Amino acid sequence: MSFLAEHILQVKPSAVSLMSARALEMERRGRDILRLSAGEPDFPTPDHIKVACIKALCENKTKYPPVIGLPELRQAVCVKLNRDNDLDYSPEQVIVSSGAKQVLYNALAASLNSGDEVIIPSPYWMSYPAIVRLHRGSPVLAPTTPESGFKLGAEDLERAITPRTKWLILNTPGNPTGAVYSREDLAGLGEVLRRHPQVWTMCDDIYEHLVFDGLRFATLLNAAPDLRDRVLLVNGLSKTYSMPGWRLGYGVGPESLIQAMFKVQSQSTSGAATFVQWAAVEALLGDQSFIRARNEAFRERRDLMVALVNRVEGLACRPPQGAFYCYVSCRALLERKTREGRVIGKDEDLVSYFLDEVGVAAIHGAAFGLSPYFRLSFAASQEVIRQACERLEDARGRLK
Ligand code: PLP
Repeated sequence: MSFLAEHILQVKPSAVSLMSARALEMERRGRDILRLSAGEPDFPTPDHIKVACIKALCENKTKYPPVIGLPELRQAVCVKLNRDNDLDYSPEQVIVSSGAKQVLYNALAASLNSGDEVIIPSPYWMSYPAIVRLHRGSPVLAPTTPESGFKLGAEDLERAITPRTKWLILNTPGNPTGAVYSREDLAGLGEVLRRHPQVWTMCDDIYEHLVFDGLRFATLLNAAPDLRDRVLLVNGLSKTYSMPGWRLGYGVGPESLIQAMFKVQSQSTSGAATFVQWAAVEALLGDQSFIRARNEAFRERRDLMVALVNRVEGLACRPPQGAFYCYVSCRALLERKTREGRVIGKDEDLVSYFLDEVGVAAIHGAAFGLSPYFRLSFAASQEVIRQACERLEDARGRLK
């Protein structure tokens, strides 16, 4: 019998962290690695946000924070929701945590009983099923297809719901496919949800500002405002404000749930760092103009990566409509052999081969629940994207 809890043995560490550690180790041994594996913007945090943090530190704002979040920041979140999302909330409906991941963790800790089901459209951000399992819940994967733009349809949702369903996790724009749900898509899902009052929805809107091709971001409540009593909005500053290392996220929803999440937080982390929360007030209320300029850079990089990847024989990807990842199909490269005679049997083998052979770090599709694919991040300079795609072409050419 293992000393470790049974449900912990079912949880895998994040594939992104494993790949980052492997790439770092190779770099330490002198290899030149192009990292297209991480889910973080390469842009620095804007200066006005850093200045706000330094000011808070100099003013000795270093005491314990209120566990649920600074009142000023909870208010700033409400201003942001009104300004960007056309939604009205009050500060009592807001909790601030150490990243959006912590918000998800707290919400599931606060609501799941053993065996409760959580519907997760697949491919998915790998932490969703892992966090559900950490709380002894049951992830119910609802497959989507490239033909549907990797979006969950109303019928798919209806099929996945059972009397044990507690949550649907909806992520738009989505990681890893960049799928963006339109208002009509969301209205269709809303209709199904209306018929199942036991099902709550967690809307992970962390990539909301990264939407391309003139599309407009919408969250479920824009299309189905009547579902508000069973929706938790999850968001954070890591992507839009280039602040992944600051660890700041927030959840917004019915006060009863927010209070239960507060309980979890008060007995675990005690909340996000005080001076980081002051910087977050500046991020949410200060200058927003850099977001548009950065998005334009992301769109150019997307176009470049899609064009170059599709030139590599055996690889194919569609232009993602949002976020900063290409989800690349690699079926045509399976069963080929490396120079040493190793067979590329699955996407994980291919990703390992790319790393060892040409120093390009990517994440295999199996980690996101759909194979054979791999995820490449275009949160990197055009030069890095060009070099990486040349190396992929090189590596592909060496396969027999
Ligand atoms: N949600 C999605 C879909 C993500 O891709 C990520 C990070 O990669 C997160 C949440 C976590 O964000 P945070 O850094 O705020 O914990």
